[in-house]
Amino acid sequence: MHPRKLVIAIDGPAASGKSTTARLVAERLGYIHVDTGAMYRAVTLKVLRSGIEPDNVEAIARLMDTTRVQLRQGNTQPAVLLDGEDVTDLIRGPEVTRAVSAVSSLGPVRAAMVREQRSLGREGGIVLEGRDIGTVVFPDAECKFFLIAGIDARARRRMEELRMQGVQAGLNQLKREIEERDRFDSTRPESPLRKAADAIVVDTSDRSIEEQVELVVERVRETMKAMDAS
Ligand code: C5P
Repeated sequence: MHPRKLVIAIDGPAASGKSTTARLVAERLGYIHVDTGAMYRAVTLKVLRSGIEPDNVEAIARLMDTTRVQLRQGNTQPAVLLDGEDVTDLIRGPEVTRAVSAVSSLGPVRAAMVREQRSLGREGGIVLEGRDIGTVVFPDAECKFFLIAGIDARARRRMEELRMQGVQAGLNQLKREIEERDRFDSTRPESPLRKAADAIVVDTSDRSIEEQVELVVERVRETMKAMDAS
């Protein structure tokens, strides 16, 4: 493993292949993997359970004071702990998916999560995936990627993921949901989904997972070499 420990930012719209790529890239480099979407999903689950309306910013700000979201590295996907409870599977349910964009657009929620993400990445050696990693959380990250894919490929991936969880969903409905979430995430005033000017765009529509991972790891190694040489 290279002694330099970088921060790698992987952003992109829903179902663009971020999670699988980020996890495997982290594994190859011996880095920590942080799925920031999972953190926002855990907060959303807490808001739904509390019965607070997603537009009640003051109540949600108070709720954030007593909320702890932790990620524990696992073999397949990291376990997500909400106030100590393992909510890894619960946060992938349709109710959380429907509410997550509204909850994560709120300032107090973002402030708490960004603080936590920056603290996790303080020492480098980390791959963070999300919507605003390269633009807001770590604007100085040494390597930034922006993953994209056509809506058909993304909806098919999501359908397969759900099928593995025993959930049936129609392709057209998934397309609509993905597009709606992307629209909301891209147009919110605070930390919208946006490509950082210096991010490398990777279209995953027709690439295998191995190819995506290889491309990212290769770029990271090139960056490390250039840093060593300078
Ligand atoms: O990545 P995933 O689809 O699980 O993310 C769920 C939601 O969390 C996104 O649709 C977005 O609203 C929010 N999110 C965010 N900022 C991040 C990561 C996710 O606002 N860095």
